[in-house]
Amino acid sequence: MTDPQNPKAALSSDSIADEKLRLAELAVLDILDTGPEERFDRVTRLAAKIFDVPTALISFIDHDRQWFKARLGLELCETARGNPFCRHTLNHALVFRVEDTAADPAFRDNSLVTGYPHIRFYAGRAIRGPTGQAVGALCIIDYKPRTFDDRAQDILIELGALVEAELMRRPDWPRGAGHSIGEPGRPDPTGVVGHHDLIHAHVDRLLAIAAKVNHRLAILHLRLDNLPEFKLVYDAGQTQRFINRWLEDLQDKNTDLIYIARLSEMALLGVLDLADRVDDIRRRCDALRAQAIQTADINDITFVFNTTAGVSLFPDHASSAQELINNARLAHARRRPGDTTALFTPLMAERSQRQSLLQERFMRAVVNDALHFCWQPIFGNFGRTLVGFELLARWYDPQLGAIGPEEFIPLIDQQERLKRALVVKAIDTACRQLARWQTRHSEPPHIAINIPGSEFYREDFPDLVSSILGDHGVAGNRLILELTERSLIPDFEATAQTMRRLRQTGIHIAIDDFGSGYSSIAYLTELPISSVKIDKSVVQQIDRAAQRYRLMQSIVDLAHGQNLPTVAEGVETPAQLQLVTDMRCEYTQGFLLGRPQPLKQTDALVDRSM
Ligand code: C2E
Ligand code: CA
Ligand code: CA
Repeated sequence: MTDPQNPKAALSSDSIADEKLRLAELAVLDILDTGPEERFDRVTRLAAKIFDVPTALISFIDHDRQWFKARLGLELCETARGNPFCRHTLNHALVFRVEDTAADPAFRDNSLVTGYPHIRFYAGRAIRGPTGQAVGALCIIDYKPRTFDDRAQDILIELGALVEAELMRRPDWPRGAGHSIGEPGRPDPTGVVGHHDLIHAHVDRLLAIAAKVNHRLAILHLRLDNLPEFKLVYDAGQTQRFINRWLEDLQDKNTDLIYIARLSEMALLGVLDLADRVDDIRRRCDALRAQAIQTADINDITFVFNTTAGVSLFPDHASSAQELINNARLAHARRRPGDTTALFTPLMAERSQRQSLLQERFMRAVVNDALHFCWQPIFGNFGRTLVGFELLARWYDPQLGAIGPEEFIPLIDQQERLKRALVVKAIDTACRQLARWQTRHSEPPHIAINIPGSEFYREDFPDLVSSILGDHGVAGNRLILELTERSLIPDFEATAQTMRRLRQTGIHIAIDDFGSGYSSIAYLTELPISSVKIDKSVVQQIDRAAQRYRLMQSIVDLAHGQNLPTVAEGVETPAQLQLVTDMRCEYTQGFLLGRPQPLKQTDALVDRSM
């Protein structure tokens, strides 16, 4: 087919004025004779792949020549402007196409048809500059005739829009300096760190194209886990250059990796074209990751990147770049320990929504008393004498129902503000109750409070505790702060110092969940603690597994060696109570002797027992 417009119209005076405008716009873009750039090469690769053609080109049309910015499958850098293909393309509103040049009298004698590169099929879409002037063309070429339907036309139009978007990302970028991902204000082949709008817009365009060709895409959130190690040795400039080269290499070796951008310092966004292969996406990602971790040896720097990935699929999981990128990030964050690649599942999104909701509502719950505490009794004298209680947080939300601490504690641990609110509420609740008991009992029960390690290590923590004690006029010697061994930092001196400051107010420290993790003896020998709580996973197995029995016995002996009393937690059966008693474990806590209960029952129990 040929263009309905008469090419000779280009000679009218209007057209001459237009041509001046067009060349002015091209000059402003300042793109002619610049070096190849990945961000344009990527589009030609994509076009060649989608249409399955040997040649795809991005050209800009100067007054006397057609110059190629990106060329796949063509040896020439430029051709004479006079060639009718580009002339027609520039003048065409949509896509100009010639399905078989040999059958078209306007083209069959053209030198580009009769000689190199022997064009039999051509389809081109004009590329417009910021003010709408047609400055260049994106075209695909084949050496055999082809048909080109409306759907194909739409795809080429979209691809052209990708090129135009890249053009808009200039014009005052320095050039010739190679690619510089992440350098502030500099262009790069794969997106500038933090320029999420541009990255999202680009991915959205890829999605639009993929939807048209019915391709599935995988969106990868790829994390460079050991980048900090690299940065210890190399400066920012070297780091950027190295990563840029590494990314280009990765793209060169993987034609299905149609886009890669740096989302943040440590995170990359990749788009994989899965075409119609849907199975084994995880294996494909792992293969890519395996390549990614191959030693990169660039500019005499050798480094192995360790990566982990989260993956979401288009169109399966979402239809927008924003959602897909979020989903991939979520999959990464939620991957199981030891997993290097995790595929997004809708369940992850549900969970994440619930988590955000809980985090949102928690503060209100603290203020409105929707969050309260249950009191679980602790007994001495082999289960016969009440000695204290552990405060255990409970949350009842009018809409969501009861939410257990196993669910909400890990969530609030992620936010300082929430963690602190709970700690303050727990200490305040304990002190208020102690003040009441003091008026009725000369020896009120102890109250144990769970303290997250990160709160404990805050500079102002001992002062916070002292001030709450002061508010209620109680001494610290009835309070026990429970710290899990997992939450203690390896710096014994810092830990011991905080503990000593707290000990000055009479407060006791207990190591919680002992036996569930590292069970370091050093915790017992080097820290000024007052007691050891043995984890219920140990206690509940002592009547069933000989090895647990021996572990329990050795923990008790070890503690006693340091003059530390022990608490057996989670005692549920008379057999367990008998065994811990035989081991001379001083205190017991568990459903057998008392469940966590509301304050009213707690008060009654104290009045009965003390
Ligand atoms: P934890 O500190 O080890 O608390 C003991 C847990 O064991 C409590 O679960 C308690 O109900 C449960 N338990 C006690 N006796 C038995 C028993 O005989 N059998 C069984 N199966 N379980 C028993 P809960 O209340 O669900 O608390 C779970 C965890 O949540 C606590 O473990 C603690 O780590 C955390 N937590 C609870 N309240 C608070 C709080 O106020 N602040 C902080 N930071 N963490 C809290
Ligand atoms: Ca505890
Ligand atoms: Ca415990």
